[in-house]
Amino acid sequence: MKKLYFITGSQDLYGEETLKQVAADSAEMVKFLNGKLKDTVKIVCTSTVRNAEEAEDICLKATCDKDCVGVITWMHTFSPAKMWIRGLQALKKPMLHLHTQANEKLPYKTIDMDFMNLNQSAHGDREFGFICTRLGIKREVVVGFYRHEDVIEKIRAFAQVAIALNFSHGMRVAMFGSNMRDVAVTDGDRVESEIRYGWNVNYYGIGDMVEIANAVTEQEIDEKMSEYDKKYELATKDIKAVREQAKYHVALEKFLKQERISAFTDNFQDLHGLTQLPGLSVQDLMSKGVGFGAEGDYKTGALMAVLCKMAEGRKGGTAFMEDYTYDLTAGSEKELASHMLEVSPAFAASKPKIEVHPLGIGGKQPPARLVFDGVEGDGIAVCMVDMGTHFRLICAKIRLIKQPEAMPKLPVARLMWELVPDFKTGAAAWIYAGGAHHAVVSTALKVEDIKLFAKLTDTELIVIDESTVI
Ligand code: MN
Repeated sequence: MKKLYFITGSQDLYGEETLKQVAADSAEMVKFLNGKLKDTVKIVCTSTVRNAEEAEDICLKATCDKDCVGVITWMHTFSPAKMWIRGLQALKKPMLHLHTQANEKLPYKTIDMDFMNLNQSAHGDREFGFICTRLGIKREVVVGFYRHEDVIEKIRAFAQVAIALNFSHGMRVAMFGSNMRDVAVTDGDRVESEIRYGWNVNYYGIGDMVEIANAVTEQEIDEKMSEYDKKYELATKDIKAVREQAKYHVALEKFLKQERISAFTDNFQDLHGLTQLPGLSVQDLMSKGVGFGAEGDYKTGALMAVLCKMAEGRKGGTAFMEDYTYDLTAGSEKELASHMLEVSPAFAASKPKIEVHPLGIGGKQPPARLVFDGVEGDGIAVCMVDMGTHFRLICAKIRLIKQPEAMPKLPVARLMWELVPDFKTGAAAWIYAGGAHHAVVSTALKVEDIKLFAKLTDTELIVIDESTVI
């Protein structure tokens, strides 16, 4: 399990007794938080920092510990912040500055100067906050009594974002082919992606996957078919086409494992040696948290993998989606989102059906795919675009809705949603911001998670929500 270091600051000025109490309070706090967050992260209580040497030591240790995804800092007493400069300069892990106290209420009847000297985070955390701001350190400040539910949930959300950032750093992404010819928004600066997010993005020939697919055995395909049988409803007589997808599925899993790949892209213009566009196989992989971007969209694929990691343990789905077409009825405008094939069953409102239909473009055989209506509820759509000088994230709130009428002739899975604050403002804002037609949609994550991700990666973020005006 990944770790967060809990670092408490103080100083030598107060003497042994006070420092003992500081250590005991920190240990109690960590014990309590571990009880609450045990499914998410392990918090490690470190010894109280009293001077510049100790500050530098613990910050270097956190930076070098590969299982440490971030730190929680708290100034129980005053802790003069010049002693933190060297340490903070050495710290390369995300920080949550917890502005809290060991005590919830003031002991009005008994409070004296000893109590004030011991419990002065109102004082010490301001001094520490100043030096963080002066040093330009991007961090999350969480305020409140540590046993309060909202504080615990903010620490949990920070831990999940920190775990996702740790995963992002050094993540390997495979592009089968390049991006779709002439398409602008799916392209991007792969070197900058690696510098900023740690995504190691590399080209592979589709032949690398075909070679593995050709070696897949009938028995391996049988096993994959029985896995499908448990999860999906077989609604086609073209078993041969489904078995072909099962073969791709086994091959993709082998490839991902062999190359340690967390996200991949393909391109329907480059399928040499495959008889179908991967559909069902990609859909199923997405539902397991493997990042995917269609048409060579490596940014969306990689972002999807990172956001799936962030959403682990939460209810709801997270996956690649595409804006497709609208119902423009005045006052009740809706968007229909889908793709040629690749919609994650993480969004299915009921048991997905395996169907085989011809594809309008690409000139390949009819591919097997999962078809379903999408879930309802609140969600977000997040995209990343390359502005040339920097990456930009755009995050829009959406309301996923029930499909108002059946669409019996539509041979792909689909979601429908309403835009926020209203259709015209939401759509115009997205377009003015330069938002893509590809996005990662999540019913598990909140705008706040994306804000934190953007802050900690120093990425420009445009949020489209209830308060948006053009
Ligand atoms: Mn697309």
